Amino acid sequence: MRTLLFVAALFFSFASMAQKVEPPKPAAPKAEPTKEELAKMKPEMTEFWDPEVAVVTPGQTPLDAPSDAIVLFDGTPESFSANWTNTKGEPSGWMVADQCVTVVKKAGGIKSKVELQDFQLHIEWRTPAEVIGESQGRGNSGIFLQGRYELQVLDNYENRTYRNGQAGSIYKQYAPLVNVCKKPGEWQVYDIIYTAPRFKEDGTVFSPARVTIIQNGILVQNNISLFGGTEYIGIPKYVAHGAAALELQDHGNPVSYRNIWVRKL
Ligand code: MG
Repeated sequence: MRTLLFVAALFFSFASMAQKVEPPKPAAPKAEPTKEELAKMKPEMTEFWDPEVAVVTPGQTPLDAPSDAIVLFDGTPESFSANWTNTKGEPSGWMVADQCVTVVKKAGGIKSKVELQDFQLHIEWRTPAEVIGESQGRGNSGIFLQGRYELQVLDNYENRTYRNGQAGSIYKQYAPLVNVCKKPGEWQVYDIIYTAPRFKEDGTVFSPARVTIIQNGILVQNNISLFGGTEYIGIPKYVAHGAAALELQDHGNPVSYRNIWVRKL
């Protein structure tokens, strides 16, 4: 009987030990070096040489495409037809002349043949010198990042409109930090740094799209998180997607574009 009790006690003690086995602990974070360890450090110990940083040759000016850019439009009709179609994938009716391409009313938007994920985009735009209309009706176009998220193009030189719909805004999501619009008929510049949203397997958002925008050399959007696709009416929401084309909007106004290049990041 005593033997039986002993065996039972042994069994239960092993069983309880087995239950107490804990998962392996994650490695403890490295402790701060002590004063003595710091004193022994040499400068080379925090200098990393490899892999060497890739060399990219800058353009002549910051407006010009660097060596690793994909040039999406260099001012020629060939460059336009090689890189852009209408939104149905057919040749676009937009007009190429004088080193720029101009929206032709009712021709519809255009989209790039290249599909992009994260990127740096340089694009120059010009609203018509002849001022017609007001608010959203004056020099309206737009740059749809990944075909979904509109960076507004609009003539907001002494032209009020709703603040989250003016040039430099992410349409109906973020007003620009400042209004840096040039006069109608003058060329303006957007430099855009864009991080695509990431989605989980179930289609929900893992991380939202982020964008930084510099207009005419001035910061107008500082690493903002987008709320979802642009909606004219309603609330923006995300629908999972992968790499996608850039789109430029036909809003019925003869807005022009030139010198478009992009770097995949
Ligand atoms: Mg627009």
